[in-house]
Amino acid sequence: MRLSSHSSEPDAPDSAQASWRVRDLMSLMESWYPQATAQPWDRVGLIVGDPDAPVRSLLLALDPTAAIAEQAVAGPHGDGQPYDMVITHHPLLLRGASFLPVTDPKGAVVTRLIRAGISLFNAHTNADVACEGVATALPAVPLEPCGVGAGGHEIGLGRLGRVDATTLGAFADHVASALPAGPTGLLVGGDEAMAVRRVAVLGGAGDSALDAARAAGVDVYLTADLRHHPALEHLEGGSPALLCGSHWATESPWLPVLARRIEAAAAAADVELRVEVSTIVTEPWTSHRVTQGGLA
Ligand SMILES: [Zn+2]
Repeated sequence: MRLSSHSSEPDAPDSAQASWRVRDLMSLMESWYPQATAQPWDRVGLIVGDPDAPVRSLLLALDPTAAIAEQAVAGPHGDGQPYDMVITHHPLLLRGASFLPVTDPKGAVVTRLIRAGISLFNAHTNADVACEGVATALPAVPLEPCGVGAGGHEIGLGRLGRVDATTLGAFADHVASALPAGPTGLLVGGDEAMAVRRVAVLGGAGDSALDAARAAGVDVYLTADLRHHPALEHLEGGSPALLCGSHWATESPWLPVLARRIEAAAAAADVELRVEVSTIVTEPWTSHRVTQGGLA
């Protein structure tokens, strides 16, 4: 049973506030993406910052990179009045850190944010499994109802859906036109003339769900970061065909969905909050070439 947007916000902040504090955004995110639903290896929550600090401007991004920290410090108007808070999907310190000097890339991000008084929060695998989370934000795939996990929250990694009867090639064209523009594009694995009706999607690295996609009986599996051996061995074993986008392109469609959700909650609570989605492409790659050399 899908919860209504209101009943899924039990900790919605006090409507009498003129602005939210960091802890109010944390409560809102917890009501949508409970930390308890994150994977055990994951790190989610408030990475740096003061829970009592006011938040009037919020920047959303996929990765807490130096460029995102720079954008946060520059602020929504680029006038040196920084954003108050940044929410990212990926953690900054997933594997822990003993030293965070400014000479270290992650230390530099931490230092820049703290100096500017910017809080950094993230929701990662707890957002991946949420019904209105990362996978459901992937465009153009009608989705089946999600399951219900602990605490009544709807959870499940990846999504299954149906599309109007089409071909693999036409579906790939459609996905490529809908995913945000990035340097790496979309790889197609399979016969482009084959019929496509049932689809599985999983934003981000999708190697681990190849067997699940096959077991689900779908025609095509849209994900990212598929490596040579798992993808080749999968296709040698039959269906589904594969569409492999970039990690950034398949996960960042969640950001505008999250922005609208937060804006609606802020409007309902009558608080002042400016929410922006960063347009910085945080892929490791900057361009690609089609290789054309021979083997002779
Ligand atoms: Zn990811």
